[in-house]
Amino acid sequence: MARVNGPDDSLDGPNNSPTVTCRRCDREWDLGEELSAVGNQAFEQFALDHRRHTGHFPDGIETWRAVCRHCTEQTERLEEGAVRRWAQTHARHTAHDVALHTTDGETTLIEG
Ligand SMILES: [Zn+2]
Ligand SMILES: [Zn+2]
Repeated sequence: MARVNGPDDSLDGPNNSPTVTCRRCDREWDLGEELSAVGNQAFEQFALDHRRHTGHFPDGIETWRAVCRHCTEQTERLEEGAVRRWAQTHARHTAHDVALHTTDGETTLIEG
């Protein structure tokens, strides 16, 4: 008896889904509501919250990080621009050197 394959169930496009998954937690979340309320920021907020509570990021989430070399100030965002701005502002006001960690694992120094 021949086996008939069901209809292709890959309905969602790869990048259009409002879903966040985490392999480590073996869970999946639908951010549809948050996305329509606050836009892409919802992913960032979710990712940072997830890390705060579990110690790790959900799948496929990578952040930019700026860490001051002279004091305890640091910031972490999904968006490069926001992190660069923070680093430059901190460097300008405090004359501290700030290390910028990119999503590729590279580090650049913003001199104060
Ligand atoms: Zn998780
Ligand atoms: Zn500093």
